[in-house]
Amino acid sequence: MKKKHFWILAGLILLIFLSIPFIHILKIKWNETDHKIKIPKGYTNDASQLNLTKVDTIINVPNHKNEIQEQLRKIIKYAQENKLKISIAGARHSMGGHTIYPDGIVLNMLPYKHMELDTINNILTVGSGALWEDAIQYLDNYGKSIAIMQAFSSFSIGGSISVNGHGWQKNLPPISSSVVSFTLMNDKGEILNCSREENEELFKLVIGGYGLFGIILDVKLNVVDNVALRYKYIQLKSENYLSYYKKFISENPNVNLVFGRLRISDQLFLEEATLNFFEKTKQSPNPLQQEKEKSIESKRLVFRGSTNSEYGKRLRWDLETGMNHVSNNNIYSRNDLLNDHVSLIENKDTTSTDILHEYFIPENNFNHFIQDIKPVLKNTEIDLLNVTIRGVQKDNDSYMNYARENVFGFVLLFNQKKTERQEKAMKELTNYLVDVALKNKGTFYLPYRLHIDKAKMRKSYPQADSFFRLKLKYDPNEIFNNKFYQHYK
Ligand SMILES: Cc1cc2nc3c(=O)[nH]c(=O)nc-3n(C[C@H](O)[C@H](O)[C@H](O)COP(=O)(O)OP(=O)(O)OC[C@H]3O[C@@H](n4cnc5c(N)ncnc54)[C@H](O)[C@@H]3O)c2cc1C
Repeated sequence: MKKKHFWILAGLILLIFLSIPFIHILKIKWNETDHKIKIPKGYTNDASQLNLTKVDTIINVPNHKNEIQEQLRKIIKYAQENKLKISIAGARHSMGGHTIYPDGIVLNMLPYKHMELDTINNILTVGSGALWEDAIQYLDNYGKSIAIMQAFSSFSIGGSISVNGHGWQKNLPPISSSVVSFTLMNDKGEILNCSREENEELFKLVIGGYGLFGIILDVKLNVVDNVALRYKYIQLKSENYLSYYKKFISENPNVNLVFGRLRISDQLFLEEATLNFFEKTKQSPNPLQQEKEKSIESKRLVFRGSTNSEYGKRLRWDLETGMNHVSNNNIYSRNDLLNDHVSLIENKDTTSTDILHEYFIPENNFNHFIQDIKPVLKNTEIDLLNVTIRGVQKDNDSYMNYARENVFGFVLLFNQKKTERQEKAMKELTNYLVDVALKNKGTFYLPYRLHIDKAKMRKSYPQADSFFRLKLKYDPNEIFNNKFYQHYK
């Protein structure tokens, strides 16, 4: 072969090699549909897309304080008289029908989103239907930020309090610890103020109470300063995660936000990890950025490209770790970092759905847990998309407490086909993973699919029996109801 031909051929091979990732990503885009699945009139569903249920009515609450109270009293009276149940819905990102009761009334709380900041005491008063993104947008104008919230900002404040969510704020307890007080409308239509000093028992029950004790209306939350944060990143062996966490996170007072991620491609499966953290700087934070559509879409496609594809999983790990290198030392405002929309991972394949799990594991059993879940995850037909790790400190506030000591939350995201076969496989998988969590003295998170039976649930939550007894004390007619309650009570 002539020298010139050799170089042309080599160039062509290199071009083909370099195009493979683009072709892979483009294939994902071509195969996607932008048709959203329509929910038929008279029905409702949740983020699992596996809970289509016929309901009596869906009522959008008003935004005004006086109007909402009057309307809700009428609804409660009507429900009592007509023996109807009421379920309460925020952004419906719980996955087990926690916002749904068959043939019941659904209250859509999202319109109730008034906001007011007490700048002297740093307390935000907010309607429970407000999304975290609304609150971030509002607080940004005052140089303030949310103290504790989830990884995405697309959830409602009432929903997050009712699951007692947690996020990636460094070494903090769940949201409960940032709640000063809230008002609750009970089964009689009365408004009760709940805090650590007033109606203390209800305060504990409602936080992480899955909408079973009444309707949360106005919430007072502690807020913190918005700050500029510098991104840092370490790639490490997962067996060294705890020692690195101690050195670079726990012992570094400047760290403000932190999460870890485990490698999920076949090679080095769960053996490699990244530790991503953000340190306070002396700079002033920039104002909140508006959505950067294009970069969000390319990140989403890289993420979706990992579904059921070993090549895609490797590509995503390589691209993300490569990008981490590039972004090392970049500066972001805290509010920008907290303001990620869930559309970043949106699944547009209508034949499948993404399902979350989370397990809270005490520090001592961190490495055992990773070793124990490896064979379980390898032996399932369900596709693992992501494993994120966050530290959650002991929670002293909620009754259905899942962080009874300092724990690490392992968040596992799966892609599941909407078939009976995969539903069965997911149920089996969940049961194996809960067994592993129990073996490692851990708990599982309750907002997801209802695949665990009552007896096993009580091994994780020994307080469940008294929780459900107290439900009957406060709501004897079980007017506030949903599939979560029906399954576990
Ligand atoms: C992609 C994704 C990412 C997630 N990330 C996290 C995370 O990082 N951390 C975490 O902790 N969780 C996470 N979750 C889990 C959890 O489902 C959400 O935290 C929760 O759903 C947030 O609020 P929501 O508005 O969607 O609540 P919904 O699903 O609408 O409601 C949840 C519960 O709250 C009750 N409720 C809602 N509003 C009120 C009200 N005003 N009064 C009384 N009860 C009410 C409902 O009845 C229901 O039982 C995630 C879920 C998904 C799908």
